[in-house]
This record gives sequence, structure tokens and C-alpha cells, in this order.
Amino acid sequence: MELNELYRDVILDHNRRPRNFGPLEAADASAEGFNPMCGDRLTLRLKLAGDRIEDIRFEGQGCAISTASASLMTEAVKGKTRAEALRLFGRVHGLLTDDAALGEDLGKLAALSGVREFPARVKCASLCWHTLSSALQSPASSTSPASSTSPASSTSPAVSTE
Ligand code: ZN
Repeated sequence: MELNELYRDVILDHNRRPRNFGPLEAADASAEGFNPMCGDRLTLRLKLAGDRIEDIRFEGQGCAISTASASLMTEAVKGKTRAEALRLFGRVHGLLTDDAALGEDLGKLAALSGVREFPARVKCASLCWHTLSSALQSPASSTSPASSTSPASSTSPAVSTE
């Protein structure tokens, strides 16, 4: 099987059966994302255990690439620390925009490198990662929970890829 076919199958599978899709009770952090180029909408909710992403789920409506990307992302960052998740964001961003970037060690996320061939869809694939980055920086998930001034379930301002 061609690598490109393999990548396409991963995207199709995750679009058809998105992992970690649905509401998340008692989330510690959340953020909303919108990609006006395509109309993709996404709400991301996280449960944090200290600095670690204990659980993550998403809801929303978007094209196949945005849905598959969010599904792949939630699988990839669950159990990771904030820093690890943001580092992964950097790797995926490279995969989407840099023809020289390699994703062999990124597991199924490597399938996103197929999106490189469709520059107009890069924002569809990166939307969930921008939204994650915003959720991880929301006040409710700051390092000083004792002095937190906002409710734990607060939603940070919507993210736009524009
Ligand atoms: Zn899209």
C-alpha cells in the first residue's frame, strides 16, 4: 500500500469514527475554535491533573480534515503534559507547512502530512491545535488554582485561525 493511501485511510477512519468526540463533564479548561475559511467549528474540553492532560474531548462541526485532525490530536495528547502537547503542536505545524518535515516518529499524526498537498486545508487541520494551545493557556488552568479568579468551567475567547 502506498504511504499516501495509508495516510488517506487514517484521515477517513478518524472522520468516520471520531475518537474522544462528545461533551466532557467537569472540564478544567476549554476553548472554542473557528476557521472562517472553511466554516469548521470546534469546542475543546480538557480535564487536567496538575500539568497533565488527563482527559480531552471535542465537539463541533467541520470538514473531514478538521474532524479527523481533532480526533487524532485528542488521541495523541491524552496523558501528555502541557509542555509535551505544545511541543507536539510545533511538530504537527511543521508537518503541515514544511515539505522537509518528517513525521515517522509521530505515529498516526504523520497522516496529517498529506494535507501539505492542499494548502487551503492547512487551517482545517491546524484549527484544533490552535484551540488546544488556547485552552492550555486559559486562566482556569493556570498554575495557581488557589488564586484563580474565574470559574473552573470558564471558556476562553474563541480562537480564529485568521
Ligand atoms: Zn475545513
